[in-house]
Amino acid sequence: MNYYNIKHKDEIVSFKEATLRGLGKDKGLFVPEHIPTLPTSFFEEITQKSNIEIATEALYPYVNDSFSREELQRVLEEVFVFDTPVKELLSNTSVLELFHGPTMAFKDVGARFMARCLGKFSDKDNPTTVVVATSGDTGSAVANGFYKVEGVRVVILFPKGKVSPFQEYQMTSLGANIQAVEVEGTFDDCQALVKQALSDASLKAERVLSSANSINVARFLPQMLYYFFAYKQVKDLLEGKDWVVAVPSGNFGNLTAGLYAHAMGLPVSKFVAANNANDTFAIYLQTGSYQAKASVPTLSNAMDVGDPSNFVRIQELFGYNLEAIRKMITAVVISDKETLDEIAYIHNTLGYTLDPHSAVGHLALQKALLPSQYGTVLSTASPKKFDEVIRQVIPSFPVPEVDLSTCHKKSISNSYEAYKDILLS
Ligand SMILES: *Cc1c(COP(=O)(O)O)cnc(C)c1O
Repeated sequence: MNYYNIKHKDEIVSFKEATLRGLGKDKGLFVPEHIPTLPTSFFEEITQKSNIEIATEALYPYVNDSFSREELQRVLEEVFVFDTPVKELLSNTSVLELFHGPTMAFKDVGARFMARCLGKFSDKDNPTTVVVATSGDTGSAVANGFYKVEGVRVVILFPKGKVSPFQEYQMTSLGANIQAVEVEGTFDDCQALVKQALSDASLKAERVLSSANSINVARFLPQMLYYFFAYKQVKDLLEGKDWVVAVPSGNFGNLTAGLYAHAMGLPVSKFVAANNANDTFAIYLQTGSYQAKASVPTLSNAMDVGDPSNFVRIQELFGYNLEAIRKMITAVVISDKETLDEIAYIHNTLGYTLDPHSAVGHLALQKALLPSQYGTVLSTASPKKFDEVIRQVIPSFPVPEVDLSTCHKKSISNSYEAYKDILLS
């Protein structure tokens, strides 16, 4: 499979090159040249297959120039060392728990896969510097996934004071090849610095750079796999109803991966893009006009993105056809107050604790779901990662023990020069 740059369609690269480079010319995102389809029998027999069999079959066509099938299977066995169970909540909905990995958020899947790809691709004598911006969960997943991977150094930017103590701990406690840097600014500022580095020719002359944001194909693609794992678990619960999947969304990497799974044949009838006050995508669906905004801080901070980077991949996938996008995706915007009420309501009625992102997803699903449909929401993080928010409505929710005093981080202003100095050091 080859990949092309959405901005320069004649720039065509292998999976390896797309992974190593992160972005193409003019900061264009790479996408696969075509989306392979899986035979109907794959879906008919899915409940008899192991997750590793499913994952290997679905992902192999995307990476077949770099991995043999056996090699891919071994990598996937190392990635999925944790389970992704579906839990039934209300009679017509369930939750796909994606937070049983080491940093308790779905980003462990993409980060662990990408780390193994880069470990394989990078030149041990000329290490790759992985640059990444995070609003919290990416940084911890990437830090953990890449920790001590030979030939790779990781520099993580996060907005000062806007990640939880637990997230900060997960990014700053490892050391070794992992460098965490707090920036006086927002997540969007961090992301802009990373994009600038990736297109800085003088920097690239001195360092092999790669990105680990959800724009990187090696992080983005494996996220499609747990939609198949979810279908395997809900197939017998659907009872003839159409399946709807709600995705708490920020940069829309997760949701776009779900759209790919659908294009491969997964029987999803609709996706719900669940958003907090950062409603750029919802307004696009309403008006047909995409206006990037500055991000607004909310309680579901991993979704505080005003200019979702995977939006262009969605447009490209649907051939820039707004009606086709509207048919496949509904957007629902949930306020912070509704988020807290939903956490309290589900806890008090069902004894289940949703994290703020999953609560946005669950309520958005309830608002969008028709009686003829069955819904599954991706639970993107454990409530333990967002304990301060949870305690606003469940005062007895425990405080995790973190000791930030032993952690290492650098602090910079929102300045490209300061960032570049760190990358060159
Ligand atoms: C990153 C993240 C999201 C948003 O995912 P995107 O792929 O950026 O849309 C949602 N919830 C949690 C907990 C996250 O960490």
